[in-house]
Amino acid sequence: MNIILFGPPAAGKGTQSQFLMKKFGLVQLSTGNMLRQAIADGTELGKQASAIMERGDLVDDTTILGIVRHRMEQPDCVNGVIFDGFPRTKKQGEGLDAMLQDMGQSLDFAIQLAVPNDFLMARVKKRVAETPVAQRRADDTPETLQKRLGVYHAQTAPVLAYYADQGVLQIIDGTQEISAVSTALTHIISA
Ligand code: AMP
Repeated sequence: MNIILFGPPAAGKGTQSQFLMKKFGLVQLSTGNMLRQAIADGTELGKQASAIMERGDLVDDTTILGIVRHRMEQPDCVNGVIFDGFPRTKKQGEGLDAMLQDMGQSLDFAIQLAVPNDFLMARVKKRVAETPVAQRRADDTPETLQKRLGVYHAQTAPVLAYYADQGVLQIIDGTQEISAVSTALTHIISA
């Protein structure tokens, strides 16, 4: 079972991915986490991605599709994955379709966690205030969030439309309590 979890930064995709992993035995495939790991490991990919990520821009589609394919081919992905933070452009969505077809797999659900911008801004300000400086993500600031939200809406809206046009996009109110969002996800997936 392969699921895409859409949502702007700080919408709760990471938290809900953890829930889905435990509940359905899926693997979380977060391109953001993979890129942050590459930076921490000091790899060539990490060196290329770090400045782009700090600016809040998107890493190029070919690079992203390459790391996703590589991860999908690992044995632990055999039960399926939750795509978190991917696809972020229409080209990545088309690339994912081609990749899944090539691998004899399919996309089962595309689910959007919908959260308004002002709600996200308040959430990030609270998170920054509550997280020790040493543990904060470099791009988790109200200033960068503003930029990332702009990028998200400009570049991801066409991807949402891509899945909506195929009739596979389902939308959940992401302003709800964490447990209520988890319940809504379970209803969709178990239906
Ligand atoms: P995230 O943790 O998903 O918010 O991603 C953090 C940053 O990593 C983004 O702001 C982008 O710079 C980069 N990134 C993560 N996933 C992608 C993707 N699918 N396409 C392009 N850039 C990405």
